[in-house]
Amino acid sequence: MHPSLTNSLLPGKLRQQLYTILKQNFSGRLIMKNVMVILIVLLTVTFFIAGCAAPQQPAKQYKWKVHDPDRPVPPIITPGTATSAPSDAIVLFDGSDLSEWASSGDKPAKWKVENDYMVIPKGGGTLRTRRSFGNCQLHIEWASPAEVKGSDQGRGNSGIYFMGQYEVQVLDSYNNKTYADGQAGGIYGQKPPLANACRPPGEWQTYDIIFHRPIFADEKLVKPATITVLHNNILIQDHWIIEGRTLWRQRAIYKPHADALPITLQDHGNPVRYRNIWIRPLKPDEETE
Ligand code: MG
Repeated sequence: MHPSLTNSLLPGKLRQQLYTILKQNFSGRLIMKNVMVILIVLLTVTFFIAGCAAPQQPAKQYKWKVHDPDRPVPPIITPGTATSAPSDAIVLFDGSDLSEWASSGDKPAKWKVENDYMVIPKGGGTLRTRRSFGNCQLHIEWASPAEVKGSDQGRGNSGIYFMGQYEVQVLDSYNNKTYADGQAGGIYGQKPPLANACRPPGEWQTYDIIFHRPIFADEKLVKPATITVLHNNILIQDHWIIEGRTLWRQRAIYKPHADALPITLQDHGNPVRYRNIWIRPLKPDEETE
């Protein structure tokens, strides 16, 4: 038994004992017997080590090696202050104009710009982004009317529809009783917010939303959409798996659609205001790299 072999496989104490046996029994038969013992010990130890190191999950093909120096490093982004847009965001509304928005039928946006915000006028209709988006991080600020009118779903109602399909509810939920899955920050008709983080009527509120689009193949759903929402910096939707297109009084279902579509803002007949809207499109398949 060459020392280098035992050196590489056995712990120090056991190795020492094996050398002692070899030295003390330097005669043919006894050596053969001890060699057999050593081999059995070696095999046992080897199988034990191999068993401990065996992967507990199916082998996976990785695109990158661990600590791969060729793997692109994340881009450097200058963070914004509390709510201002970071350096790589697309600013959808900075208070000056509605050039990034359109009304139904590709018409110029009908909503009004006042001061640093836009407001839903009577008959304003749905507003949509001119650009299309799939996976994204969205920051949007909104305020329900300072003068409280109506109740339940009729009070400060609007909504943010990702891909024009999946609504994050906007509602004055400050001391306003309504059904849970229709509250501010609810995924409408599916999932109530984890908390009611609403500020009083008229005060500005923030939504920060991470949305991952659904994936379809051959007109069938392969992977549902997911959404995470922070309302005034409080987590209210935690990677919710969206059940389908949000609907009123109907169970949601998916209908196949394009990989990128406009975001729409709902006109529900209440003069809700919006300001400071920016978006960061996310790579479509980043999670599978
Ligand atoms: Mg709504």
